[in-house]
Amino acid sequence: MGHVFRDEDQQLAIDGLRRFLNDQIEPLFSGELRDAFVPRERMAGFTKQLAEFGLVSGMVSETHGGLGLDWLTNSMLMEEVSASALDVALPILINAFGAQMLEQLASDVLRDRYLPGLISGELFCSLAISEPGGGSDVQGIRTRARRDGDDYVISGEKTWISNGAYSDFLICTCRTDDDPRSGLTHILLDRVDHPYVVSDIRKIALNGQSTASIFLDEVRVPVANRIGEEGQGLRNTLSLFERSRVFVGAMGVGLGRRALDEAIRYATGRRQHGKLIAGHQLISAMLAEMATDVDAARLLVHRAAAMIQAGLPAEMEAAMAKARATEMAVTVTRQAVQIHGAAGVTTDFLVEKLAREAIILPIPEGTTQIQQLIIGRALTGVSAF
Ligand SMILES: Cc1cc2nc3c(=O)[nH]c(=O)nc-3n(C[C@H](O)[C@H](O)[C@H](O)COP(=O)(O)OP(=O)(O)OC[C@H]3O[C@@H](n4cnc5c(N)ncnc54)[C@H](O)[C@@H]3O)c2cc1C
Repeated sequence: MGHVFRDEDQQLAIDGLRRFLNDQIEPLFSGELRDAFVPRERMAGFTKQLAEFGLVSGMVSETHGGLGLDWLTNSMLMEEVSASALDVALPILINAFGAQMLEQLASDVLRDRYLPGLISGELFCSLAISEPGGGSDVQGIRTRARRDGDDYVISGEKTWISNGAYSDFLICTCRTDDDPRSGLTHILLDRVDHPYVVSDIRKIALNGQSTASIFLDEVRVPVANRIGEEGQGLRNTLSLFERSRVFVGAMGVGLGRRALDEAIRYATGRRQHGKLIAGHQLISAMLAEMATDVDAARLLVHRAAAMIQAGLPAEMEAAMAKARATEMAVTVTRQAVQIHGAAGVTTDFLVEKLAREAIILPIPEGTTQIQQLIIGRALTGVSAF
């Protein structure tokens, strides 16, 4: 499905990745590693192997040691990994956007120290924006970076931070000034040089990877570890979101597509009232609706990726892709459970896990409501925030 939009290079990239996922990742995450926490070194084993197929490496230009793949290809790769294991896709997403920040905004010293390890899949980063007092309202960030000579001294608490327990370094959005818009700054903290305390959080799903709270108590970090200019943190975060949302959309497409595949498999094997359930019109209609919704979401994701690749502003289109694709994943995974009947709520079938994972996706990188506010503002010029 959707293959008509792939050129020859993209098809080769997808085919190679799919073979690897089917052989190495798929059996683990639907078996031994289903809902089990994957320790850092084991996860690094996956990220290192996936780097060879363009995951993270594809997002970095050849000038800086990456493969320099286009945004559409990168979003296709993200869909594939997400269709196999969202627990692996999420660390990759975060590392990819950490790599983007290093490539575009960091000093040569920071870039040379951390970017190669992200590209090769050996290092993990976290992007710490959200706090207990606020996730949607980025301007409300309270974690404070106080200037003291050539250092910042940072105190505060971050929460829901992906890769937290894995992280070798943290790109922390800190308040350096009271102005809500121009008072935020990104600062890189190295786990060894500037220790921060990490506490993992259990969730409804996605417990294979780490989501953590991070505590910072008077952590001293050199000013040279700033990423971007002081006061540019909000602007740079919003620009990051415009791109990362497309990839969260691709994750939703991967999840929805997988649920559809599982539903088709079940509907073409299970018999009721003397025939395959796929032969009942209501089931057939549900499958048709699911397939149409998956493809519609994919088109939104591909449009936003193509616009970013073309250098066009895509804030509204990225918000549409993220909101629609992640809400689609919730709907389609629920329909897949329904098609499985009682079997669908047991751990014997994958759709139970997919439905739990899907319910998470409309929350990070801006909730569905925040995406709607962005779309509404773009349409009318009036902010309803
Ligand atoms: C699995 C996972 C991974 C995450 N990874 C990261 C990460 O790596 N780094 C990071 O910084 N954060 C991360 N987050 C946090 C995520 O970005 C926030 O949870 C999200 O931005 C929402 O913030 P909140 O949870 O504080 O909800 P709130 O902002 O408190 O929102 C609560 C509800 O109110 C609604 N709402 C809020 N404001 C408005 C408004 N103006 N109008 C209408 N409705 C509104 C929201 O849509 C939501 O329904 C992650 C979250 C999850 C679940």
